[in-house]
Formats: sequence, C-alpha cells, structure tokens
Amino acid sequence: MDFKQALEKIDRERFFGEEPFASKKTLAAIYSPTYAVTCPYLFTIALAENAIENGVELLLDTEVVDLKTKDGRVSEVVTSKGIIKSSLVINAAGVFADDIAQMAKAQEYTIHPKKGATILFDKQTAKFINHPMSHLKLPKKQHYKGGGVMVTVDENIQWGPTQRESDDKNDVSVSESDLEDIFNRYTMLIPDFPYAKLIAYFTGLRASTFTEDFIIRPARSIDGFIHVAGIQSPGLTAAPAIAKKVLGIIKDMNISLKKKDGFVAKRKKPVVFRDCTSKRKHELVKQNEMYGNIICRCETVTEAEIVNAVHGIVPARTVDAVKRRTRAGMGRCQGGFCLSKVAEIIARERDVSVESVTKKGDDSFLFFGKAKCLLSDNTD
Ligand SMILES: Cc1cc2nc3c(=O)[nH]c(=O)nc-3n(C[C@H](O)[C@H](O)[C@H](O)COP(=O)(O)OP(=O)(O)OC[C@H]3O[C@@H](n4cnc5c(N)ncnc54)[C@H](O)[C@@H]3O)c2cc1C
Repeated sequence: MDFKQALEKIDRERFFGEEPFASKKTLAAIYSPTYAVTCPYLFTIALAENAIENGVELLLDTEVVDLKTKDGRVSEVVTSKGIIKSSLVINAAGVFADDIAQMAKAQEYTIHPKKGATILFDKQTAKFINHPMSHLKLPKKQHYKGGGVMVTVDENIQWGPTQRESDDKNDVSVSESDLEDIFNRYTMLIPDFPYAKLIAYFTGLRASTFTEDFIIRPARSIDGFIHVAGIQSPGLTAAPAIAKKVLGIIKDMNISLKKKDGFVAKRKKPVVFRDCTSKRKHELVKQNEMYGNIICRCETVTEAEIVNAVHGIVPARTVDAVKRRTRAGMGRCQGGFCLSKVAEIIARERDVSVESVTKKGDDSFLFFGKAKCLLSDNTD
C-alpha cells in the first residue's frame, strides 16, 4: 500500500460531520483508514489459549532466575519452580530482557524503561469521540511519541499515553504531573469533554533501548539464544511479523521444525452475557442459573462468566485476571461493589481461603482477616 492509499485528507465540513465535539479551531484532518484498535489483554489471552490447545505448556507464576550454558550453547533455564533443559531460548522478557540476556552472558544492550500513563473515562462519554484522534503540531520541531484520544473496544474513552523516562523497571505509578500532562495535551482537542467522568488511570512501561529499535536476532556470543528485545510500541501490532522473523532465525540455525498436524486455528469465544440477545440470555439462565446472578453491576458480568474464567484454559486466579477476562470491576465503580464477591468466587472455585486471593499475584493481598473481630475482646 502506498502513502496516498494509506492516508486521506479530510476537509473541515466532513471532519465536523464525523466529530462534532472536536475543537472548532481544527483546520483540516488526516484520516488513516488502516488504523485499528484492539484489546491488548483479550488478544494476548486468546493467543495463549490457542497455543495451549495446540500443545504449548504454559507455566504461570514461574520466574526465570538463571540460565546455564554448556560448550558455548544454552543448556538449562533455571526457574523458581525447577530446571527446564533446553538448547534454544527465546528471550522476550520485555523490560527485563537485558537481565535475562545477562544471565546467558549475552547482554548486548540495556533496557531503559519509558513510562506511559493513560487515563480512562466512563462509557457515558463515548459519544464525544468517534475516531481515535491526535493533533498535529506544525512545523514539526521534535520527535514525539504519538498518543491521543480514542475509543476502546469496550467503548470507554482513553486519553494518553504520556512518555517519561524511568530508572525503575517496576514503577507503574501515575503521578500528578502525568495527569496534568495528559489533560494539558488533550483538553484542547475536545474542549467540552466531561473530564470529571474519569474512572481509572494506569501506567505501562515501554522496553526501550538506546537505539530505539527492535532487537530481533541470535545472540553474538552464545548459541541457541535469540533476542526479542526492545519491543516497545508498536510491538503488539508487530507481533505476528516478529513471530515470522523469529521462525526464520530458528530455521537459519538449522533447527528442524515440523508443521503441526491438526493445527487448531480457531478458539471458542467465551460467553459474554451482556452482549447476548434476550432470547440467548434466557437460554443461558435456563442452562445454568449462575448466568442469572449479576456480580458486576456496572458491566453486567454474571457469576457463570467469572466461574468460566477461573476454570479457563489459562485459569484466572487473581481479581485482576478475572477483570481482564470478564470486565468485572472495570466499570464506573471500579470494583467498589463486586471486588469482594469476585474474590469469594475465586476462593470457592479454587478451594482456597478468601484471604489468600490476591489482586495481581505476589503479595498484593486484599484481605487481612474479618473486620468484626476488631469489636470483640479477642483482638489477636
Ligand atoms: C503505554 C504503552 C502504550 C503502548 N501502545 C501500543 C500501541 O498502541 N500499539 C502497539 O502495537 N504497541 C503498543 N505498546 C507496546 C506493546 O505493549 C509492547 O510492544 C508489547 O507488550 C511487548 O510485548 P513483549 O511480549 O515483548 O513484552 P511484555 O508484554 O513486556 O512481556 C514480557 C513478559 O516477560 C515476563 N518476564 C520478564 N522477566 C521474567 C522472568 N525473569 N521470568 C519469567 N517471566 C519474565 C513478564 O512478566 C512479561 O509477562 C504500548 C506499550 C506501552 C507501555
């Protein structure tokens, strides 16, 4: 596709027909018909589930802590749950890719995370924006990372992300200045936007290298080790092309690969109750009464969907894992009403105590005992 096909100039009249709430200072717009929005976590979960159906073994909550080499080649991956023998390792560890490469004595770059803060608005604001938009400042004086205002696949409006260097690979905090930065940049695009309807903000870390480019190649100093590092934006979009490139590298290593017989190309879509017709909803409730019990009122998520997620192909074991599969807790109240109910369902289905259920793994515990015990004499 050439440049002319990829972009289209839109005059003011057509632009305001499509985007009536945009700033009246807009002179013209450029439309990119090939631009698309996906849901990064549902996309990734779908790929992981499909990989498992095709024979991949996925180890959750398993940290790579060391890599062993023998005769100039990787030989073992040491994990928090045991050793995996392997003569081929693909290093796709995001912001930690340089640390993993160092374990294999193949550190050929360093990762310098760049924080990207984003804010999310209530679905009620969806009418204010019909297309992802950003402003183009002319003349272009410096390189700046995209970002803009957009509608997510779930019809929330999202503003951002920012770009800020960080020296902490675990810092996903959002500061006051991040929020100011976003508001300063985008309120001018949609002046009457009801920005008090903000419901959430969060940060992601881009795995940047000093060359600001993807590093997809075999290690120079050790055999059997492939770098897939520096995969910052647009790494998600580029993922299928990156996979093809890695496949080519493996072939060049003379490792014989056999096409899988009976490859499962499709994945069964989970039931999304809120999207069903009334007739289908009645059928579902008849089949399983847990479809009649709404746990998340903001997003209309049923008990049955949460149970399905907990027992899914990639099981959801934490409150955030359930949230990313079902949207329970992603609505206006951000889990204020349903969080404890979701935790109880996870505990019940996994046969563990509710106190052991975490927000997102590790020590992100949500409960520390029963509140009413504080009223009794026995406060131990
Ligand atoms: C704010 C922001 C906006 C973005 N916007 C876009 C966009 O619009 N379009 C687009 O295409 N891309 C976008 N991206 C980029 C995209 O998210 C990344 O390119 C993509 O997630 C990189 O995937 P990855 O698998 O290489 O790394 P990651 O997604 O970071 O995955 C790395 C994995 O390795 C695991 N790991 C690390 N160390 C260890 C260890 N020692 N043991 C076990 N596991 C380990 C981590 O837990 C993680 O699961 C954006 C990124 C950010 C931060």
